[in-house]
Amino acid sequence: MRPIQMVDTRSQYHKIKADVDSAVLDVMESTAFINGKAVQDFAASLSSYLNIKHTIPCANGTDALQIAMMALGLQPGDEVITPSFTYIATTEVIALLKLTPVFVEVDAKTFCIDPAAIEKAITPKTKAIVPVHLYGQAAPMEAIMAIAKKHNLFVIEDNAQAIGCDYTFSDGSKKKTGTIGHIGTTSFYPSKNLGAFGDGGAMFTNDDSLAAKLKMIANHGQSKQYYHDVVGCNSRLDSIQAAILNIKLKHLDEYASARRKVADHYDRAFANNSKIKTPYRAGYSDHVFHQYTLILDGVDRDGLKKFLADNQIPSMIYYPVPGHKQKMFEQFNVASKQMPVTDWLTERVISLPVHTEMDGEQLDYISTKVLEYIHK
Ligand SMILES: *Cc1c(COP(=O)(O)O)cnc(C)c1O
Repeated sequence: MRPIQMVDTRSQYHKIKADVDSAVLDVMESTAFINGKAVQDFAASLSSYLNIKHTIPCANGTDALQIAMMALGLQPGDEVITPSFTYIATTEVIALLKLTPVFVEVDAKTFCIDPAAIEKAITPKTKAIVPVHLYGQAAPMEAIMAIAKKHNLFVIEDNAQAIGCDYTFSDGSKKKTGTIGHIGTTSFYPSKNLGAFGDGGAMFTNDDSLAAKLKMIANHGQSKQYYHDVVGCNSRLDSIQAAILNIKLKHLDEYASARRKVADHYDRAFANNSKIKTPYRAGYSDHVFHQYTLILDGVDRDGLKKFLADNQIPSMIYYPVPGHKQKMFEQFNVASKQMPVTDWLTERVISLPVHTEMDGEQLDYISTKVLEYIHK
């Protein structure tokens, strides 16, 4: 059996090696390393794939969130509602900009922000909501957009884990996640569903004036060369990464279906097991399985993790400490806040390997070992 990894970017690369290598060499020969044609081509292909007017590439997914909040004109003291159960990047940038993160609960089924919890957290200072499409499952965007409209709030979708995911509205219309809110953001970190061979990120919007602001802020607040209208930052996707991403984008749908096949395999193996809850699949969207995350009930999680590791099976806890318990947020006086759903999930989740290169033998082995431990 091939060794099991959480992600296998090498085997994935080997399948498209000829295309990737020649695209990289082309950039090297062109020497247009920064904002070259490859970057513009990739932004255009991604816009057309997502069916969005503007894609603004940047250096990483964290910058994308930060620049989005800056472009919306959020001011120190403004409150931003966000889940506690997410990767730190989502919430850290809120605090970095001296905005106030307001952590709310997620729905224990979807792992995504709970619209009812958003409504309860709104105050006169609330300016924005940042839903996260965690693990590749879309947050309930229709309800979130309705709340935002009612209270005149901005929505920034953190789409770092769900690029390519389709969302279906109750009228039957479809949109890609990341194109529903005022701004969507994503990351091209190598292990993400659309991963570069280094860092990268992007922002999406249909709003022309927001697009111009995002672009300007990502480029030192520059309106024309050496004229700087606003304080911005320096956040660029380099041409080599863009050239690679443009090739991988052609495979994104096939990557998503490979991930779903892995999930289907696990789902079948763990069906009707009272101690393991397999990932919920919301009716309003497909699931692109950035992670395959189980909820354990009455299982010693550390014991299972160690047993798997002893059998050469990696697993991960995403994430062991939720935002409202992170030391960096103590100053926001959130440490005492009761978040029973988030705490409950944090203690029970475990993510199994899921990537585009897994085979049936590996999946059978992993499922058998998980069940062996659980029934011990
Ligand atoms: C990866 C990730 C980010 C940050 O992306 P980077 O490119 O690592 O800066 C933000 N939010 C979520 C949910 C992520 O998974």
